[in-house]
Amino acid sequence: MSFGDEIVTPVQPYQATKAYVCPGCTAPIEAGTGHVVVVPELAPDLRRHWHRGCWHKEQRRRHGVMRRSAASSP
Ligand SMILES: [Zn+2]
Repeated sequence: MSFGDEIVTPVQPYQATKAYVCPGCTAPIEAGTGHVVVVPELAPDLRRHWHRGCWHKEQRRRHGVMRRSAASSP
């Protein structure tokens, strides 16, 4: 399932005037909490509000980015 690129817009705490439910952790994003809005370019109706941290985790999960440990660097 793909809706093209997603437009991610940061929401500042003063802009967050409503509470939302984060689809990443299903916990509420309280009003006044900085977060991000993610809007699929081809499906703007599917906009979602995410905690910043949850969105980053979701990105890593989707793209399977496994950071190699830097511990082996000289
Ligand atoms: Zn969350």
